[in-house]
Amino acid sequence: MGGLTNQARERKRIVISGAGPAGLLTASLLLNKNKEAGCTVTYDVTLIDGRQDYGSIPQKELSENHRSWMLGLADHGMDAIKTLPNLYENYVKDEGILLREFTLYLGSKKITQSIGSSPSSSKLSSGLPEAFIVDRNFVVAAMARYLRETHTEDDNYTSMYKTTCQYVDYENKRVLVRNVESSVECYILYDLLIGCDGVRSTVREALVKRIALPETGGLVNIGIGTARNNFDKLPDELKSDDYKVVSEYVKKNLKAFKLVDTDDFAKQWVGQRWNQTGMIHCNFYHSTQLGIVIMGDAAHATSPSIGMGMNTALRDAAIFSEILKETNDDFSAALPAFSKTRVKEGNALSDLALHLYCTDATQQMKATIHQVIRNFFYTRFPSFVDEHPFTMIGRRGVSLSDAYEQAVKQGIMRKHRAINDRIRMEYFEQETCMIKTPIQKSYTMSKKLFGGASLIAVAAFVYQKVSMK
Ligand SMILES: Cc1cc2nc3c(=O)[nH]c(=O)nc-3n(C[C@H](O)[C@H](O)[C@H](O)COP(=O)(O)OP(=O)(O)OC[C@H]3O[C@@H](n4cnc5c(N)ncnc54)[C@H](O)[C@@H]3O)c2cc1C
Repeated sequence: MGGLTNQARERKRIVISGAGPAGLLTASLLLNKNKEAGCTVTYDVTLIDGRQDYGSIPQKELSENHRSWMLGLADHGMDAIKTLPNLYENYVKDEGILLREFTLYLGSKKITQSIGSSPSSSKLSSGLPEAFIVDRNFVVAAMARYLRETHTEDDNYTSMYKTTCQYVDYENKRVLVRNVESSVECYILYDLLIGCDGVRSTVREALVKRIALPETGGLVNIGIGTARNNFDKLPDELKSDDYKVVSEYVKKNLKAFKLVDTDDFAKQWVGQRWNQTGMIHCNFYHSTQLGIVIMGDAAHATSPSIGMGMNTALRDAAIFSEILKETNDDFSAALPAFSKTRVKEGNALSDLALHLYCTDATQQMKATIHQVIRNFFYTRFPSFVDEHPFTMIGRRGVSLSDAYEQAVKQGIMRKHRAINDRIRMEYFEQETCMIKTPIQKSYTMSKKLFGGASLIAVAAFVYQKVSMK
């Protein structure tokens, strides 16, 4: 193998803020590049995260004390993980379960779609992307363990856990970091700062300021969510602190399937707080002048309604690594190319998450029936009927912007956006008293629109409460 020796290569200091899925994969990919003969630079990677290193926590303790939420990884995320040799096979695989079928319940009516390549005649269609169900923290722990074990003696790698990125001094290309235990602060210099620090990204703040402009074990996991405007209309039973009240309500109202232990569900329900999810939209993900790039939730945090946040975060990391290769590690070419490739994906992600579903329960029921009918005909007459965008999401070879385009062509985005925007605006007007007396017409309409609480049960997600802003 030819190429430059390690000493002859230019050194680049990379600081990654955030050791979540995006940060960990990016760190591993960059350190891996150092071993490639064709790489023209040596990356000195410093990984910073405010939390402890999940990769150092024993498995038992992790499952007992450090669970977060269950999520589904589709082809997009799985392929990104598999770009690193052994990461999936030796570290991630045993942390979750591969889904075999996807079931949609309309009340108690069950509609099943198989996942993978062998459609059965009794099932609707295959073609759904691979789905690996796993706790977010388990993936993070597995990736952190891989990074630690693969680069134990690597002089090009420094990890700084329990250390937060406080402030980006972009003029001097350095970040101020603080150890959360000792409160000791120091500056770290960088050639490239990569913001993988999630929805409240400090790195994104720097971009914004500068430009003056964000179960395993045979158990069933359940996630139940509601749009914020419907929160007050949720039945009181679901807001109760008494697990017996919740248990009774679920027994009566959960039609899709019977829980083996409703009391257990109810106890977990009352023991958990409501999660709120924020949304981040950015028109660009980099500044060449500041030497900053953002990815993952730092660039496009969104509600988990279509389950693609981590998939997209992991794919951002994999694509960034590919772009570095294509541009011979020239940041002035790589950073704009990254924005060009990923901004449309990040915005397709957040727009699909917001508008593929309709906040109005009646409209959403119609949309679900449309999806089922369309897919029924699409699987039989693919030359005449277009696929529904929902089943395209996350599949290998199909980008999120492809699915978005399909949703626009089928009129879904325009219709749902109009309804959702109106509902959100009416809710905001009433919450902030912009409109003090409800206008009769919209009042009547909202009564009709909001009447009846929406209870959406999604099998294969952990007991969790999600309220979407
Ligand atoms: C209920 C729920 C269900 C979900 N379901 C799915 C799903 O089914 N499929 C899917 O693909 N996605 C899903 N997601 C989304 C997914 O969890 C996120 O998109 C993904 O974790 C984003 O990864 P990330 O690395 O960009 O950011 P994060 O996971 O948010 O990691 C950011 C890291 O940065 C660190 N950090 C933050 N600020 C600082 C700072 N100032 N200094 C240092 N470190 C910092 C944090 O400690 C954290 O470790 C779901 C999310 C929720 C809430």
